[in-house]
Amino acid sequence: MTLPYIGGAARFDVLVPPPADGTTRARTGRLTLTHGVVETPQFMPVGTNATVKALTPDDIRTTGASIILANTYHLYLRPGHERIARLGGLHRFMDWDGPILTDSGGFQVVSLGDLRVVDDDGVTFRSHLDGSTHRFTPELAVGVQEALGSDIAVAFDQPVFPSSTRAVVAEATERTHRWAERSLAAHSRADQAIFGISQGGLDPDLRAASTRFIADLPFDGICIGGLAGDETPEQRDATLDVAIPLLADDPRPRYLMGLGSPADLLEAVHRGVDLFDSVLPARVARNGQLWVPGGRMNLRNQRFLDDPAPVQDDCPCLLCTRFSRAYLAHLFRAKELLAYRLATCHNLTFTLDFMARIRAAIQAGSFPAEMTGLRARAGRISGGEGAEKSA
Ligand SMILES: [Zn+2]
Repeated sequence: MTLPYIGGAARFDVLVPPPADGTTRARTGRLTLTHGVVETPQFMPVGTNATVKALTPDDIRTTGASIILANTYHLYLRPGHERIARLGGLHRFMDWDGPILTDSGGFQVVSLGDLRVVDDDGVTFRSHLDGSTHRFTPELAVGVQEALGSDIAVAFDQPVFPSSTRAVVAEATERTHRWAERSLAAHSRADQAIFGISQGGLDPDLRAASTRFIADLPFDGICIGGLAGDETPEQRDATLDVAIPLLADDPRPRYLMGLGSPADLLEAVHRGVDLFDSVLPARVARNGQLWVPGGRMNLRNQRFLDDPAPVQDDCPCLLCTRFSRAYLAHLFRAKELLAYRLATCHNLTFTLDFMARIRAAIQAGSFPAEMTGLRARAGRISGGEGAEKSA
C-alpha cells in the first residue's frame, strides 16, 4: 500500500502500483485537483491559445479528455494574463470547467522567441507575434500562471535540445534548478498545485542529479523535461530508465512533457510515466491523418472519396458515428472547416481511448501480457515533435 501524496491543491493516490516482479513500472493513479479528478496514466490535449484548435469544450469532453494544457507564453502575449484574470480566469474565459495545466513558458520562450538572451535572472526575448521585447523570469512565469488560475502551474525552466553538448545541458540544468527554487518561493496561490521540471538531457549523470534535485523540493509533481525533442526512442527509454527508478518511492505524479504518439505513450507508461501532453494527435488530424487501430489513414488520399465506411467502425466519436470516409475526404479537399473539427475529435478520441485501454490493462494486472496487443493497436506512429511543439 503506497501512501497518497497530499499537497495543498493536489492529491495523488497510486491505485495499482507496479508489480513486484519488475516486469513493468506502469501504474494507475488518481490525481485530485481543484477542478476535478484525473485518472492516470493520462493524456492532456493541448489548448495553446485557450482553445483546443477547432473544438468546443463539449467536443473536448466527448473525446474523453479530463484535463487539458494551456500555454503560458501564448496567453501572456495574447490576449494577456491580466486581461484573462479580469475576465474571471482561464476556466471561465474558455468555458472549460475541468482541470487545466499551464506549462512554464520556458519551451516557447526558447523555441519561438526571437533574439532571446538567457542570463541567470531570466530570458529576454522578442515576441514571435509583433517583435515587441519581453522578459520572463521564474517569478513572472509563476505570476502569469497564478493570474490564469490553472489547476497546475509549472516552474520556469530552461529546456535544451537533447542533442545539445554536455556543457550546454549542464549549464541549463543548473539554471533550471535555481529557477525551480525561485518559482517555488514566488508561488502563493493556495488552490493551484505546482510541478517542478527536471532537465539533464540524455547524460545519465546530469539526468540523475537533476531528478534528485527537483524531487528534493516540495513540488506537487515531477516533470521530466528535455525529452520528446530530437532524441531517438532508444535514447528516451534509456533516460527514463535513469530517472524513474530514482522516483520509485516518491508518492508524486510524473509527467513527460511533449510526447503524443500512441506508440511512444505506451513505452513511456511502461517505464513509469503518469501524465503526457502533445499537440501531435490534433496537428496531424488537421493535416488529414487519422489514427486507427494498427496505423493511420490519410484522408487526403483520393481512394477515400467513394468509401462509405466510417473512419473506424467501433469509434464513438462525432466523426465515426455520423459521417463516412468519403464525406471527410470531400471536406478536406474542399478545405471546409468542419474537416478540422471532425478529424481532431477522432484523433483525440483514439488517443484517450488508447490511454483508457492501458489503464484497464494495468488495473487487470495484465499490462505486460497485453503490451504486444497494445503495440499493434498503436501502430508505428512515432516521433517527437521538437521545436514544432507549440505552434
Ligand atoms: Zn472516430
